[in-house]
Amino acid sequence: MKLFDVYPLYPIELVKAQGSKVWDKNGKEYLDLYGGHAVISIGHSHPYYVEKMTTQLKNIGFYSNSIIISGQEELAEKLGRISGYKDYNLFLTNSGAESNENALKLASFHTGRKKVVAFSHAFHGRTAGAVAVTDNPSIVAPVNDTSHVTFLPFNRTDELENTITEETCAVIVEGIQGVGGIQVATIDFLKALRKRCNETGAMLILDSVQCGYGRSGKFFSHQFAGIDPDMMTTAKGMGNGFPIGGVLISPEIKASYGLLGTTFGGNHLACTAANAVLDIIEKESLIENAEKIGNYLMHELKSISGIKELRGRGLMIGIELEQAVGPIRDALLNKENIFCGYAGKHTLRLLPSLGINQQIADQFLTSLKAVLN
Ligand code: PLP
Repeated sequence: MKLFDVYPLYPIELVKAQGSKVWDKNGKEYLDLYGGHAVISIGHSHPYYVEKMTTQLKNIGFYSNSIIISGQEELAEKLGRISGYKDYNLFLTNSGAESNENALKLASFHTGRKKVVAFSHAFHGRTAGAVAVTDNPSIVAPVNDTSHVTFLPFNRTDELENTITEETCAVIVEGIQGVGGIQVATIDFLKALRKRCNETGAMLILDSVQCGYGRSGKFFSHQFAGIDPDMMTTAKGMGNGFPIGGVLISPEIKASYGLLGTTFGGNHLACTAANAVLDIIEKESLIENAEKIGNYLMHELKSISGIKELRGRGLMIGIELEQAVGPIRDALLNKENIFCGYAGKHTLRLLPSLGINQQIADQFLTSLKAVLN
């Protein structure tokens, strides 16, 4: 058997990682400013995380959701406290798409409605419901194509009143669009969504899979707007590489037994990973660091020629270049040994570990200047 060929691969095999550094099988060292796509929140192989995971695996690695798993309660308590959503409830999943699937399903059960409003350039995942609210027809299979979803322009408020109605079960939006090119939802836009959802009884879902977990310089990026969604979805940075996702659910929303469930969601190892991540986020003040280093990078990037626009918050940064991003990303990787992401044809995407320091930021700035020249 061969692997199903769905990913275009770089000819690199990584065998070791520590903090923001990774090494390939030939011993070549790279700086990782991509974090495996916003996943590495506390740094690769953080010693505290490794120790917690090793001990957990020695004790018990897995059992199903039919028994008490105290790590789940510990996680709900910690996540509620650190995120500022103490009175919300937590449903644990295994990925970002699965979190969005469950949030949409719950919104529909709760309201008894079936229409959803999503936005231009949105990305919410590749499973049935998540891909249906993703603005990319090329990845929507005929079986997932539905007339229940309406797409509105991102960051515009003029069509909200006509489109979000008493028939809408959910409005789903990213606080900062990631795949869509690091587009920050404006404060006015988020406030207008909250207001219209209140008027119509539609559930507001903030997809925080990429922009959440401290990356923006607040735990959730919509907290800059001072609004509270009905549900927030998370994954990526939540487990620092161990698969875990979650839906934070407002206390007004209830579900009966059997409506939601998953075999693996919230297993012992996943909860240990997520608890260790939150411990380190707190102990090492990583949210504050994301804001500080993010602001530093944004400030320094302003003086580099060849950059058309800078977008983002904290350590979720989009650098729109005047030239195509492909060759620049390749040069950063092959000549400067730096992993970065991209979004669209012109935008370089930085999604590093939340613990990077100024020295790492400076190394990137020097390298970027060199390749842009
Ligand atoms: N939502 C957003 C905003 C994402 O960026 C992603 C993945 O990139 C997803 C959902 C899907 O997450 P996953 O790949 O874990 O299913």
